[in-house]
Amino acid sequence: MNTTGSDFIKALNDVAHNLWWTWNQSAQLIFKELATQVWEESNHNAVAVLNSVSPTELQARLGETDFKERVQEMLDDFDHYMRREKTWGGVNMPDFQDHPIAYFSPEFALHESLPIYSGGLGVLSGDHIKSASDLGIPLVGIGLFYRQGYFFQTLGVDGMQHETYPINHPENMPLELVRDRHGKPVETFVEIGHSIVKLYAYKLNIGRISLYLMDSYHPDNEEHYRELTARTYGGDITTRICQEIVMGIGGVRLLKTLGIQPAAYHMNEGHSAFLALELARGKMLEGRSIDEAFSWVKDHCVFTTHTPVPAGHDRFTLDLMHFAFANYSAVLGIPVEKIMEYGRVHPHDEKETFCMTVFAIKMSRATNAVSALHGDVTRNMWRELFPDRPAEQVPIQHITNGVHILGWMNSPTRKFWRKFLGEDWEYHIMQGDFWHRVADPNFIPDEAIWALRYNLRRLLIEFTRMRLKEQQRRVGANGLKPFDSFLSPDVLTIGFSRRFATYKRAPLIFSNIERSLRLFNDPDRPIQIVFAGKAHPKDDNGKALIKRIVELSKHPQLFGKVAFIENYDINVARYLISGADVWLNTPRRPLEASGTSGQKIAIHGGLNLSILDGWWREGYDGSNGFAIGNDDHPQDEHEQDRMDEANLYDAIEKQLLPTFYNRDENNIPREWIKKIRRAMQTLIPRFNTDRMVAEYVNKMYKK
Ligand SMILES: *Cc1c(COP(=O)(O)O)cnc(C)c1O
Repeated sequence: MNTTGSDFIKALNDVAHNLWWTWNQSAQLIFKELATQVWEESNHNAVAVLNSVSPTELQARLGETDFKERVQEMLDDFDHYMRREKTWGGVNMPDFQDHPIAYFSPEFALHESLPIYSGGLGVLSGDHIKSASDLGIPLVGIGLFYRQGYFFQTLGVDGMQHETYPINHPENMPLELVRDRHGKPVETFVEIGHSIVKLYAYKLNIGRISLYLMDSYHPDNEEHYRELTARTYGGDITTRICQEIVMGIGGVRLLKTLGIQPAAYHMNEGHSAFLALELARGKMLEGRSIDEAFSWVKDHCVFTTHTPVPAGHDRFTLDLMHFAFANYSAVLGIPVEKIMEYGRVHPHDEKETFCMTVFAIKMSRATNAVSALHGDVTRNMWRELFPDRPAEQVPIQHITNGVHILGWMNSPTRKFWRKFLGEDWEYHIMQGDFWHRVADPNFIPDEAIWALRYNLRRLLIEFTRMRLKEQQRRVGANGLKPFDSFLSPDVLTIGFSRRFATYKRAPLIFSNIERSLRLFNDPDRPIQIVFAGKAHPKDDNGKALIKRIVELSKHPQLFGKVAFIENYDINVARYLISGADVWLNTPRRPLEASGTSGQKIAIHGGLNLSILDGWWREGYDGSNGFAIGNDDHPQDEHEQDRMDEANLYDAIEKQLLPTFYNRDENNIPREWIKKIRRAMQTLIPRFNTDRMVAEYVNKMYKK
């Protein structure tokens, strides 16, 4: 392609409006160079950058030949990516080309500049979509547009979390209001209670995939319904059921309006399960009986469950269902009492509430959990739904989560892999044998791996210093000087960032404070740690954990060695997962269904130090990282905490420190690097979303 003049401007706009650029580091650099300050202040928003650069300026900037060449090259890459004909999906899913998979999820974490996600579930959905695009899988996403997203976190001087909700303006985002042929905005609606709630839809391009986000901010809606889709998991249980009606029922109607006829509907978590009602309604309108309609539904839906605790599943009382479905139940032609039966383990037990997970399992031809261990837990949890089978034969399989490798990489890492594996390594991510070569020091020298580790650790440390200074300035503190030497680039650096839910036990590494102080202050073999994470606005216990960590970071013997970075998001995550030598994960087993943050680190040469829960239970092979304890986990919480605490200190003192600080004459930790190679070789090809999505195609999407 040879682009000229104003074509360049249009082409750059197309790229800014396609999140493909979020996993192409050359494109990111181009946007950054165009308007660096706008780029930084907008949390890396390409649309905001282009909105701030006039066509005249852009024209002039392209007068610099080197820049223009790089833009041209990037545009060619994009063009090639979008047109590529020989894809995994093309080869493996020929029947799906006109009938995509409709993928429903309550949140999508795609980039830091699109704050419409809360955490792990969103990251998984976002990565699912990106890999579907890379593999050329016909798929369309459905979700909600949260104008206020999830909250922005700041911490008071006392370490208390404060929440604010900045407004997301669609015109400053890569969103496009969906319009019909005549340019009129496409509208759908849902019945909620006795009201009609109208919905707009925004389209987001993610490589070759379209994601539609529905928005109830419509002038015709009653005011409280205008705010219905404002916040991710906001409001109370009534807000929850109403949002779920919008997503499930509204989503099916939107697909119909757009003329999309999916081959299957994938419910990522139970929140979207009301889609089954609307699908059944469609079939009954075609003249089928209730039973035939639901049997059609069951033949076309698949379901992924993520929640290992009974309390985590959405449950609605009969009263709430009566309120929410007051009108819709008549439209559907099924009384609310009958709908209730579909969402109960024992359909006729009137004391039982309506459970979205039960409903989703009953409405799906296939259900999966998200790791092998979580599969066991889930089969046990729902065995009553299959009374004639023993738990191990409950028809719920597992597909272990993964991460979108390209999207989680930063520039130095991408460069590193291109240098050693060649330009097209990105098409071989899920090929196990492709990664054998990283075991060979003649292929990648120890020195190169160690240089990468130093580079990434320094980037994290400098980022942390910058953020801590910003935090200090905001609370009006002066004396920022000490923060210029906060953390040391030569010290074993531990990362811990995730939701601050109590079961994740963030302060476990401080449970014996004497022992911790010795570890952090060892003159020869010290450690340091960087934390980040949000607690749910209503989770006071989670907030107390954050407060505890912040207080510890001010302890005179820990100052400069323990950091808490505010407002965990994808950008903070990218620094942490690349910069940390060791990724700490301390959930109470088996409450971590899978976890994905630990999967992001292998590509950067990080090592996991984790309880054998979720994905790490199957990822750990004895030499590719570190385990805290073994499979032995007492039921009693306090007993488990005591045991894990002892095992954590043991692993650090007896395994991590000797391996990391044992250097040869060139000051290189050969044994540590051997573990890094082992982690890269065994983990990268397995715990990525290319493998995961391919598994979804083979086990769930194909009949
Ligand atoms: C990866 C990631 C998560 C999920 O991490 P877990 O280890 O699964 O809890 C949550 N939030 C952000 C911003 C992430 O990048």
